[in-house]
Amino acid sequence: MSGKSSFLDSYPEYRVDIGIEVHVQLTTASKIFCTCSNGFAKEANINICQVCTGQPGVLPRLNKQAVEFAIKAGLATNCQISKQSKFDRKHYFYPDLPKNFQITQNDQPICTNGFVTIRLEDSSTKKIRLIRIHMEEDAGKNIHAATGESFVDLNRAGTPLLEIVSHPDISNAYEAKAYLQMLHSIVRYLGISTGNMEEGAFRADTNISVRKKTSDTLGTKVELKNINSFNFIVHAIEYEIERQITLLEDGERVKQETRLWDTKERKSVSMRSKEELADYRYFNEPDLPIVEIDNDHIEQVKLTLPELPEQKFERLCAQKNLSVYEAEILVEDPELANYFEKAYASIASKNIINLILRDVLSFIKEEKISLNELKMTPEQLAQIVTLLEKDAINNRGAQELLKHVAKTGDNPADAVKKLGLEQVGSSAELELIIKELVAAHPAQVEQYKAGQQKLFGFFVGEAMKKTQGRGNPKIIQELLKKYLS
Ligand code: ZN
Ligand code: MN
Repeated sequence: MSGKSSFLDSYPEYRVDIGIEVHVQLTTASKIFCTCSNGFAKEANINICQVCTGQPGVLPRLNKQAVEFAIKAGLATNCQISKQSKFDRKHYFYPDLPKNFQITQNDQPICTNGFVTIRLEDSSTKKIRLIRIHMEEDAGKNIHAATGESFVDLNRAGTPLLEIVSHPDISNAYEAKAYLQMLHSIVRYLGISTGNMEEGAFRADTNISVRKKTSDTLGTKVELKNINSFNFIVHAIEYEIERQITLLEDGERVKQETRLWDTKERKSVSMRSKEELADYRYFNEPDLPIVEIDNDHIEQVKLTLPELPEQKFERLCAQKNLSVYEAEILVEDPELANYFEKAYASIASKNIINLILRDVLSFIKEEKISLNELKMTPEQLAQIVTLLEKDAINNRGAQELLKHVAKTGDNPADAVKKLGLEQVGSSAELELIIKELVAAHPAQVEQYKAGQQKLFGFFVGEAMKKTQGRGNPKIIQELLKKYLS
């Protein structure tokens, strides 16, 4: 990753402790305590009712699906699922919170004591422990118009959230990113959230503190709020580590506060001081019963869990002969992994992943399309690899063929003929070309023989030109070695 973490490297007497709270919006059909749609709304304040707008006298009812999703998340992150959990009121005043309290879980959350395994730069793994996962409702949205007027949209009020809270086990920006990416993959694999960060479906609040390694107590923590991209989080953490260590080195102290990341200026700015800890006056939510979950229920949910990112990673590395780097790319993108596995089932060749990472991904990027829009089926990719391995086409031909099939969906074998990509592979034909080439460049032959090894590449290039790029490079090299010695 970025070499900027070298700032920490130059202060080896310091260590960094990072804990992260992630809010995940759940894709349930309805909201957490009412029957309003939890889907996309075209207009402000249309998915609302008495409950989610906090009218007096209404009663919340807990959404069963939200509980299922919480259990799934807990099982996928190795948590204990609480047999009994309860809801609490967290009080604060803000225009987007019509009840003046948020229904959340304070002292008896639904999941506790989990962990997420992340992979470090050297491919070793580290467990990041989770304190808890709890259920709560999202607030609405304040909208500040350019006219100076402010509006409140309550469509989002009552959207089910999971808040996933880690221990401060994360030691640098790289680990923070790896942790967030792993959580992000897990919720998408589980199908419980879109994970869309720009739309706020996956939001991370990061608590960062630094201390001397000799100190047993955590340093003063600073909270970075709601940064909506993995890369911004990395920049913000690196900036914050540098800022805090510099303060301490200058004999000053770190103030406990919440800071925001300014993506343009690439620095964090103070939002509010947390010197006096907010008093949320938590108390039990009297309108909701205790949530009881028995073992049978947990076992039932377990049966619905899909293969998880870590399991997929292990399986791909073991069965499909992939490097850590290759497997990580596929795990990040389950659809791509699926495509790969289908092609690999036709021909178990290393060239499948090579062509996917080199040619398929760059084609998708160039054409600005998604994998589903690719006209080439996984089976056709396998056919292209087969043609390549039979020496019917060379590497360059495979690249051209792949682009063509990706665009048109044509049968690869037919397309090879149509595009004239058949490899010039017969030794006799190539031998003639090489002989002519050597005869036409006596000066270069002399120089090569006198020790200018680099000229070998020149001859290979000329031979490829003479075959319009269709020569078999292996045979060309063998013949050149023969005629140049
Ligand atoms: Zn509602
Ligand atoms: Mn929360």
